[in-house]
Amino acid sequence: MIVSVLAIAFLVIVAFVAFIGYKAVILRGSKAVDQRNERCSICREQFDKNDLLLRQVGDYRLLYFCRSCIMQLYADLGLKN
Ligand SMILES: [Zn+2]
Repeated sequence: MIVSVLAIAFLVIVAFVAFIGYKAVILRGSKAVDQRNERCSICREQFDKNDLLLRQVGDYRLLYFCRSCIMQLYADLGLKN
């Protein structure tokens, strides 16, 4: 009885480790895909880099802006004037 409980516990641990390993592989895979995507600095949504406007702030900080956020900023500027 104790042996079968230990066997089940061992199987659960093995399944858990396999699951963690599987997740790590999946995450690494999605990271490679994500390199083509960047987050908009305002709405934090992910877009393809081609659809984002890139601006450098200071020496190293790169900011991406999506089209809808730029249009929103443009509209806000229009309302002010
Ligand atoms: Zn945005």
